[in-house]
Amino acid sequence: MGETTTLHDWPQPYRLLDAQPYWDALSGEELTFQHCADCEQAVWPAHSRCPGCSSAALSWKRSSGRGTIYSHSTIMRGPTPVWAAIVPYTVGFVHMAEDYFLFAQIDGDPEEIEIGRAVAVRYVQRGEQKLPVFALADGREQ
Ligand SMILES: [Zn+2]
Repeated sequence: MGETTTLHDWPQPYRLLDAQPYWDALSGEELTFQHCADCEQAVWPAHSRCPGCSSAALSWKRSSGRGTIYSHSTIMRGPTPVWAAIVPYTVGFVHMAEDYFLFAQIDGDPEEIEIGRAVAVRYVQRGEQKLPVFALADGREQ
């Protein structure tokens, strides 16, 4: 199938062993993050020990999938053919409601994407991996 060939051109994300539960949860359309039981902070990216207090008492929690745009950059020229096919697109850091930062694609009109705007996660299939993409949400909820 031609479409399958195209999908497999998506570069697959590099998987850190510590983050395997994150990728597994994404396959079921759940966004997760690590949480430290000792200092009660969100830990992201995934670690085997808390970068704040060195505790090993890290557990995985489900994110609400909501946050606000912390930074963003709109790409006008894609680095590879599959990305070039979807320009312009925007990527950036989302400040999640659980107080960690997630780098992802932000879907929407580049004119409307601005720092502080509320976003909510949705999921897209990229090759063999499901990935989180953020879409503009109702700002009044934040
Ligand atoms: Zn900690």
